[in-house]
Amino acid sequence: MIAIPSENPMDGAVGPGRREKELAEYYLQQMSDLGLDVSSRDAAPDRPNVFGSRHGSGDGDTLMLCGHLDTVLTDGYKDPFVPTEKDGRIYGRGSCDMKAGLACYLEVARVLGDSDIDLAGSLMLCGVADEEWKMIGSREIGINGPRVDHVIIGEPSDLSVCPAHKGQYGLFIRTYGRAVHSSIPEQGENAIERMAQVINALSDYNEELATRDPHPLCGHGRYSPGVIRGGELASTVPDFCELEIDRRLLPSDSAEDVYSDIRRRLDPLKNSDPHFRYELSEPSYVNPPNDLPIDAPVVRSLLDSLTTLKGARANAEAFPGSTDAPHLKSPSVICGPGSLKQAHSLNEYVEIEQLTQATRMYLKAAFDLLG
Ligand SMILES: [Zn+2]
Repeated sequence: MIAIPSENPMDGAVGPGRREKELAEYYLQQMSDLGLDVSSRDAAPDRPNVFGSRHGSGDGDTLMLCGHLDTVLTDGYKDPFVPTEKDGRIYGRGSCDMKAGLACYLEVARVLGDSDIDLAGSLMLCGVADEEWKMIGSREIGINGPRVDHVIIGEPSDLSVCPAHKGQYGLFIRTYGRAVHSSIPEQGENAIERMAQVINALSDYNEELATRDPHPLCGHGRYSPGVIRGGELASTVPDFCELEIDRRLLPSDSAEDVYSDIRRRLDPLKNSDPHFRYELSEPSYVNPPNDLPIDAPVVRSLLDSLTTLKGARANAEAFPGSTDAPHLKSPSVICGPGSLKQAHSLNEYVEIEQLTQATRMYLKAAFDLLG
């Protein structure tokens, strides 16, 4: 799978190597060879979601093992598509994020198939398009199904069991001014200087967020100014400046909370500068939080496995990033082989031992939930 490039095209052209199609076809074939009932559905042209089902003998629950087929880009990566085994690790782009998880799922299906174990519930494998950009694959599944009883997403968590993560909300703050020649700046209004006031007014926003009630796993919400643009020429007083901010949301935060927090901080700037005007955009991106209860059966099963594995009580954790989980509209937990330290890096690898351990954890979940 590492040798089949499936880089996310991001906002570039979709073509061989820069799409999920080739890996999706390979994964469909693998699932079919294992006796699964397979199907495929395009989230966008040449960007399919793929499914493989092992139907249960009764009307038990369905467990979906779900993973994204795309990887991040490989610019500057030496031999990204040459899978290499060394020192108990497998190297290559996607080895950790998250072709490792996809490989474990196939092994779960193989073990169940070989053993002829009778399970009342159904196991479903699912390969999803476009996790690394706009999550069109999981959004498509959220709309068109299937909805299932339990989902495990094998994103690299070092096998930690992560039923929750923060959401991510981006928006633009825009300030306006009046352009004049920079030899007479006192006669203009400088949008960049106004943006400086905006940045100052938000500078202790994180401290305010830290005073609010934390989520038991996710802690506090966060704010970060990320991209700024303004001005055309140094010899012109700029009449426009735009700042894109990133706000990490707790499950209890709403988009309205974000807007009212910002307005409460920026509106007073009009008092000292009557011409001060700012605008908040619609969201530039929205990835909702995930918040599965820690006593959900799939979480309990994975925590039991991890406790056995570590020989010490394992606790649920928050996953640091955004995932497909909230888009799927089914109860989803993140737990997979590999570490986020290696994901997206130019030296990606996964420990083979973790592949084995993840496969065992997924198998036990299948027995616990589908038996
Ligand atoms: Zn990933």
